[in-house]
Order: sequence, then C-alpha cells, then structure tokens
Amino acid sequence: MGQDTGNRAQDTGNRAQDTDRSDDLNDDQTIPGGTEQLVLCRDRATGTRAVIAVDDTTLGPALGGVRYVRYPAEAAAVAEARRLARGMTLKNACADIPYGGGKSVILLEDGQGPREQVMEAFGRFVDRLGGAYVPGVDMGTDVEDLAVIGKVAPDVSCDHVDPSPYTALGVLASIEAAARVAGFDGLRGLRVVVQGAGHVGGTLARLLAERSADVLVADVSTDRAAEAAAAAGGAVVPVDEVTTTPCDVLAPCAAARVVNDATVDGLPCRIVAGAANDVLAHRQLDGRLAERGILYVPDFVANAGGVVQIHAGRAGWDEAGTEAAVLRIGERVEAMLRRASAEGCTPLEVAERVASERIGRTVRIPA
Ligand code: NAD
Repeated sequence: MGQDTGNRAQDTGNRAQDTDRSDDLNDDQTIPGGTEQLVLCRDRATGTRAVIAVDDTTLGPALGGVRYVRYPAEAAAVAEARRLARGMTLKNACADIPYGGGKSVILLEDGQGPREQVMEAFGRFVDRLGGAYVPGVDMGTDVEDLAVIGKVAPDVSCDHVDPSPYTALGVLASIEAAARVAGFDGLRGLRVVVQGAGHVGGTLARLLAERSADVLVADVSTDRAAEAAAAAGGAVVPVDEVTTTPCDVLAPCAAARVVNDATVDGLPCRIVAGAANDVLAHRQLDGRLAERGILYVPDFVANAGGVVQIHAGRAGWDEAGTEAAVLRIGERVEAMLRRASAEGCTPLEVAERVASERIGRTVRIPA
C-alpha cells in the first residue's frame, strides 16, 4: 500500500489548511459528536511524535491502522487521525464486528531515531491506553512494524495475513449486490472500470473477469495496469479518463475523492463501488449521485473485507467461515440500497443509520 503515500502526504497538506482555522483539536464541529479519546504522544529519546484517535469504543476496542507519513503540522495529523478513526467506527459497526473505531498516525520527521525504535516508542504509547486501541497496518507501515509494536503494546491486529484479497472479495460482493439492485442479471458483460491495479484492484480485476465482466484497468503504473488488464482479459484506460469512460461500474481502488464537484455531473456509470477510502470529496456528493440515478456503495461498507478477515483471524474462524463472512458484505449492501430506495434517502445516510442503530447514538462521517 506504499505507492500512494506521496499523494496522501499532499492531501494532508490541503486538509491542514482547512483545520488550522480551529484551535480546538477535539472540536465537535469537525467530527460530529467529537472523538472519544485523542492522545498526542511524544518520545523525546527517539524524536517520535504520534497521534492516537480513539473515536468510539461502544462495540469494542478501537480497531484501526497506524499511518506513518509526513505531515505539514501536528494539527494536520490530528485532523487526519480523527477523520479516519470516525470512518473506522462506521466501517466496523456496519461490518457487524465487535470493534470500535480508531486510527493513529506517527509523524514521519527528519532526525528521528531508527525505525525499530520509533515503532517501539509508539508501542509504549499504545500500551498506556490499556487495550482501548488495537493498531493495524496502514499507509507507511507493514507487518514487520506491527510485530515490533506488538512486542510492547498489549494487542495488535496483524496476524501476517494480507487482508487485500478479502477486501477485494468484499468489493466484488458489493458490486454484485449493487448490480442486482440496479436490475442487472449478474456481472456477465458489465463494463467495470477498476482504478488502481494494486493489492486490491489487481485481485478485483481478476475476480470480475472470472464472472465474465468486461474489465478496464487504470493505474499510474502503466506496467501494473497492463499486467492486470491482461490477466483479466481486458484493456487499459488512461488514468485521466477514469471518470469519463462510459461503463456500468466505476470501482475506485486507488485515490481518494474520485467523486468530486468537477467529476460528479459527468460520471458515465450506473454504480460506484470500490475499495478506496474517502471516495466522496464531501458528503453532499452522495445526494448528487442519487439524483443522477447512480448507485453509490459507501466506501466504508464496500471495503470492510479486510477488517472482517482480521476479526475472523482473531476469533479463530476457518477459511470457509471467513469467506462466508466477507461475502455477507454483499447482503448488507443490497439491504442498504433497497432501504435507501424505500425510505427516500441516500445509501450513505442508511449506512450511517445502520451504524448508529448498532452503537446506540448518531454517528456520521465528517461533512
Ligand atoms: P496499493 O498501494 O497496493 O494500490 C494502489 C494502486 O493505485 C497502485 O498500483 C498505484 O500505482 C495506483 N494509483 C495511485 N494513484 C492512482 C491514480 N490517481 N490513478 C490510478 N492509479 C493510481 O493499495 P491497495 O492496498 O490496493 O488499496 C487501494 C485502496 O483501497 C487504498 O485507497 C486503500 O486505502 C484502500 N483500502 C485498502 C484495503 C486493503 O485491504 N488493502 C482495505 C481498505 C481500504
């Protein structure tokens, strides 16, 4: 997952400008309802600064990854950790797993001690939370880092299984569910544009091809795009034509904010469902997609296969049980889309209601 770190570092810069307006780091207006526990950490010996955001622990310990990237300022790291932690609360609740939502960031800075010592310092920060936060892999960290953190922290989520194939399977189930709701008879012949041929997108392209979909692949790495397209018996789409290429399904599996004010009115598709987080640049776009008759599967619902696999691994489920649990994402997506249609609201609103019903209070994504 390391490849898009550069883009994200840029993104965090933009968000910093947005958040610098407030000097209240746990401001309820930024994250509706506020963050349950927000911890700023510093280890002087190694020069390690980190932010741990525990958004909600109603359903269990806060499960979420550790990001290790550069930020322009600590406030930007705080804003990102809080926003991502809220997403994890919604994701874990909608996936019906016994975890709350959390996220952490270690600020990548010049002059820090060796990586292993930084991870150990971070493990001590996590340890002080007494099990409220269970860290996992995210942008800029890998299973080796988690192993180091796990030597110090009471619990880490990583069990050395790559969650990406399960994430891809959950996205596939989401696409199949949305296709049923849209009135398609299976995926045969459906044209699907997969943006990003990485860990998730590459597998997704292959799974779609196995179901006889017509697969188009775009990736900033032209080699990766070509390889994934060939494996899926499909074709390559230029990266700047992802949102203008006519298709039935757009599956964003690379960058954030693919649906934005500039793209939403021209999207030539019936369904948007993918693995990327933050597919919508802002929440009103969900309504704009609905007005255009485009079914949007909320990203935190579609991309939950990885956390379901983490839960399954920790609960000791076998492979068949794990796969069945991941495929239930499709049943949930179908129920959510049908409920949205019946209640005259958007899929995002329904997903937030489902999570809120489980948690027992209103939980929404940031505006
Ligand atoms: P990855 O880094 O393996 O793959 C991303 C791919 O997208 C890379 O091949 C990269 O070259 C390409 N890319 C980056 N920017 C692009 C752009 N603008 N246009 C086209 N291609 C671009 O990442 P991944 O693990 O496959 O995850 C994909 C997305 O899904 C990420 O946003 C990630 O946060 C999200 N996600 C992943 C998982 C998981 O289990 N891996 C779980 C939940 C969410």
